[in-house]
Amino acid sequence: MKHCLAIDLGGTIVKIGLVRDGKVLARTRLDADSQGGLAGMLPAIGEAIDGLLEAQSLTGEDLAGAAMAFPGIVDFAARRAASTNAKYNDAPQVDVEGWIMDRYDIPFVMDNDARMALLGEWTCGAGRGTDNLVMMTIGTGIGTGAVIDGRPLYGRRWCAGALGGHMIVDWRGRRCTCGNVGCVEAHSASFFLPQIIGEDKGLSEAFRADKGNQNFKTLFDKYRAGDPDAVRVVTGCMDVWAAAIVNYIHAYDPEKVVIGGGVIRSADIIIPYVQQRVNSLAWTPGEKVTIVPSELGDDAALVAAEYYFNVDHVV
Ligand SMILES: [Zn+2]
Repeated sequence: MKHCLAIDLGGTIVKIGLVRDGKVLARTRLDADSQGGLAGMLPAIGEAIDGLLEAQSLTGEDLAGAAMAFPGIVDFAARRAASTNAKYNDAPQVDVEGWIMDRYDIPFVMDNDARMALLGEWTCGAGRGTDNLVMMTIGTGIGTGAVIDGRPLYGRRWCAGALGGHMIVDWRGRRCTCGNVGCVEAHSASFFLPQIIGEDKGLSEAFRADKGNQNFKTLFDKYRAGDPDAVRVVTGCMDVWAAAIVNYIHAYDPEKVVIGGGVIRSADIIIPYVQQRVNSLAWTPGEKVTIVPSELGDDAALVAAEYYFNVDHVV
């Protein structure tokens, strides 16, 4: 079995890994400039890949292929970004496949980053063994992916399953970066926390004034300490995540929903709360849908590289 090269193009960090047998065997990361674009990042990404291969005494011949996780809509058949939202806006014009072919002469795929995280968890993580799975990755934004009857969803424009962060939870709600109003993301992703906190008149003045310094880590820390403002904000976000998951359940009819992203360090708070809300709100004849935390964490999208090239590994 050959190694697979995985590149997870995040908004602030690019993660690169060599994957085999469901594990990231070697990895490196570099700071990303997603506003500066993808073309400008490629030389640094190339250097990082070369360094990683050299350290493992590997060459392109040892690789089954390269998979890139992209934070936007990806035309999977064209192996190229199709539509972006404020990250790597030049990507639809960048021929990453040609660049990879020139350097390493290996097959290349590009896929949506949240869909790749789903594929990682489905094949090697918290979603193993089910044919019907949804994953929700919560961070700066919110990404989703869905497997139905053993097949990952792609759709006519490659958006199927991927736009769960932009399902509407409040049609009179906050304007989202995507142009829509009241998206899950606009009401519960960390990018919007300053607005979520600043606009909530039920919070103390001091807490609202400090909105620029709050993130999910500080909020969950304060939640654990019993800070009533943090409890209000965190509970509000968890209610939005639960509402979103009820929507995903009604749309995709999964057996399990995996929650991933940085917030899942607080799985001990999130999972029981969301599970209870979902149990009481979702219409699921016969059985409840299990909500589980990601097992692969930051590695989920990287691990997915094998799904495309080493399918024999998939159990
Ligand atoms: Zn949106």
